[in-house]
Parts: sequence; C-alpha cells; structure tokens
Amino acid sequence: MYIDNDIFSAVTVAAKGLYPELDALIHWDPTLSGDDLKDKFSRAITFKKPEFGYTFFPDDGGTPVVGVSPHIKVTAAAEVLAHELAHVVAGKEAGHGREWSDAFDAIHKRANEIMARCWEDGS
Ligand SMILES: [Zn+2]
Repeated sequence: MYIDNDIFSAVTVAAKGLYPELDALIHWDPTLSGDDLKDKFSRAITFKKPEFGYTFFPDDGGTPVVGVSPHIKVTAAAEVLAHELAHVVAGKEAGHGREWSDAFDAIHKRANEIMARCWEDGS
C-alpha cells in the first residue's frame, strides 16, 4: 500500500532529479504551525518563517535539516518543502537571492510536471 500521487514525493523526486547531490533530513515539525509562534517558542525567533518551515545547516557541515509544519494545507506544505529544499540547494549564505529562486522555480516546475503526469495516467 502506498500513496500513488503523493505531492511530497513529487517534490523530493523533482529536487533529487534536478540536483542529484542534494541531501537533507526532512521531517514534520509539530512545533511549527500556521500561527505566529514567535511568542511561544524562543527557537522560532531564529528562523525567518518559523510558522511554516525552516532549513537548518549544522555548523559541522553535516546534512541540512528541513522542518515543515504538519498544521497547514497539504499543498502549502509541499510548497514549503520545495522552498526549503531550494535553500539546501542554494546554500546557507544564499538567502532568497537568485540562486535560491532559480532552484525553487526549477523544483516547483518539475514537481508540477510529475503531478500532472500522475493525473494523466489516471493514478
Ligand atoms: Zn526561505
């Protein structure tokens, strides 16, 4: 048993296909929500959009950690995942500059193509 049109798999397959060296530990982070948690969680202050997701680059250069809120719509969460994976691709210092936006656009476009094929196949 599996989900045959899983939008999260589409995002990860798209990202891995475009950037074969890409690696990240992705997890649902229940401490994130669609609400503004800045007052509730001090750790949230260190991230730009703590209510939806984050990318953490370990100081030792280890595998980046991506957190996504499980409390938002599935389609929004998939877009957050694409957003965060673009951060992993662009690197810690890139911010939301050109390299990040190129990676995000590419991952987003490829994931949409994968999902469109799922619908065409009737699966
Ligand atoms: Zn970002």
